[in-house]
Amino acid sequence: MTGALDTCPKRMVHGPCGGVEPDGRCEVDDRHCAFLTLHRPVRADPAVAGFMTPAAAAMATLIATRPVIVADFPGRALDVESTRACADVLAGSVDATLAGDSGGARVQFSPALRAQLIQQRGLPVWSGINCRDRNRVALEGELAALAVVGVAGVHCVTGDHPAVGHRPDALPVFDLDSTRLAALAAAAGHLVSVGEAPASPPFGLRPARLVEKQRAGAAVVFVNHCGPPARVARFLTEVREAGGNPIAIACVPVVVDRGSAELLRTFTSLVLPDGYLDGILAAADPRQAGIEAAVDLADRMLEVPGVRGINLSGGPAPGDELGYAEALAEIATRIGVR
Ligand code: SF4
Repeated sequence: MTGALDTCPKRMVHGPCGGVEPDGRCEVDDRHCAFLTLHRPVRADPAVAGFMTPAAAAMATLIATRPVIVADFPGRALDVESTRACADVLAGSVDATLAGDSGGARVQFSPALRAQLIQQRGLPVWSGINCRDRNRVALEGELAALAVVGVAGVHCVTGDHPAVGHRPDALPVFDLDSTRLAALAAAAGHLVSVGEAPASPPFGLRPARLVEKQRAGAAVVFVNHCGPPARVARFLTEVREAGGNPIAIACVPVVVDRGSAELLRTFTSLVLPDGYLDGILAAADPRQAGIEAAVDLADRMLEVPGVRGINLSGGPAPGDELGYAEALAEIATRIGVR
């Protein structure tokens, strides 16, 4: 593995990341992904059995009871009032909000402060944490702080390279990758999720890679946008055949106007059902069409064996944070699992 470590700009051990381009190029530049020729993922150390925080245990119990609805947090970065206002709109409509990364707003409040601000409004947080901006010591501190705040879940990602996004001037850290971060988060008592990108090459490696993340301590996988429900079903079948059984939360794209469509297009490894975006943007009322499309796709995703929840995924056009939050709340209510 030393070879891949030497040439991967994120210094990943448990690669590849989700940003591999369809033709096998690295997300950072024109080199080929260092992991393309790997036949099996690197084995992860097994998770150390331990405790769960009360908030993590509550979310784990909820998922065991019924499907859950999570929504990407739409509040403006570094804006307390926008954070509170969007939390107020979503509270009571979704089971948790995923407060994660944004390609257009890399500078955020620290995960623990952000989670605190949101949870003070009665909205559980599934906190995103990445390896791009913090070394392992800083990550351990954040995980400890998130346990004090009492977040519902921690979503561990390697993170996009700084070259991708709006802060290419920042030095990349990548002291850890998502698999090793998942192990730390589980040891800190969190309900741990990871992402996996079925539509990113090398396709054959992804199911077994997810099994290794599960071995490391991840209980939940957010299945990145990879097309129709049948594609998610195929991926989860492959994961089971590889020996895994994670709780799957399927990402459902939420687009209500051109601005939110543009933002969604910045997501790495994005593959949508055929005609999804065009159908919404060509409608007389794109907002209503986007809501209807998301409800329909979520209902169909929830029929896929192994899918135990939906993540309403995307972000608002600049300035439409509250309007987008209202759309998320309406979609969540209409899905009707709560
Ligand atoms: S695509 Fe990701 S895993 Fe592959 S070499 Fe680039 S940064 Fe590393």
